[in-house]
Amino acid sequence: MPVQKTQAIVIRSFPLGEFDKIITFYTADFGKIRAVARRVRRPKSRFGGSLELLNHGALVFFERPNKDLHTINDFDLIDAFDGIKADFERTAYGCYLAELVDAIEPGHAVDRSVFRLLRRAFGMLTQIDDIALLSRAFELQLLGLTGYAPQLSHCSVCTNVFRESTVNFSFRFGGVLCTNCVDRDARAISIARGSCELMKQLQKSDLSYLPRFRASELNHREIKFALSNFIFYHTERALKSLEFIENIKL
Ligand SMILES: [Zn+2]
Repeated sequence: MPVQKTQAIVIRSFPLGEFDKIITFYTADFGKIRAVARRVRRPKSRFGGSLELLNHGALVFFERPNKDLHTINDFDLIDAFDGIKADFERTAYGCYLAELVDAIEPGHAVDRSVFRLLRRAFGMLTQIDDIALLSRAFELQLLGLTGYAPQLSHCSVCTNVFRESTVNFSFRFGGVLCTNCVDRDARAISIARGSCELMKQLQKSDLSYLPRFRASELNHREIKFALSNFIFYHTERALKSLEFIENIKL
């Protein structure tokens, strides 16, 4: 079994038998991988708490070629993102971003940009005030990196440049619909032009610019509704952590 080394973030974890865990990592060099941590649930485990959800570390694993499940040899903690974990709501959002990467990232695609986006988003999550807006920017950029970017500048059907003041957003066609094409999808939703413009900005801006953006309550509501339904349309998965965030706000 070849030994592989890479940086990785823990995006999912669940118990296996009495002492072990199966950890899903998003790695810099291998995309998403799953690996077993042996005896990690024993009191004197050599991993300590390093394999907690959202942790970023240097991973060494035994690769089992053509197998879905590898074995963890070592995980040297780089950043536990304590600033996220000190806050209940930020932790919930961090878990959501991790679950989203697990749900959207296509199988074995190897692309450092997704790893960099996730690490950067966790860094921003420790310091930014508008964490909902950070989540929307993350959703848009992750969709872009994985080939699902919503089309916001051109009509998703006829590809004409989109100039309409009223924006109709179609989950089925993957973006906005012009006046001529809006009848193609009876389920398209109407959103404010300002929400559409903000989404375009969030799509292309570095996350460090987010504190400069101002989003109204309407923008927040519309963009969240549009993106959560768009993501559900593509993944066909209800994300548990998103439901959890909704519940803690009640
Ligand atoms: Zn059109």
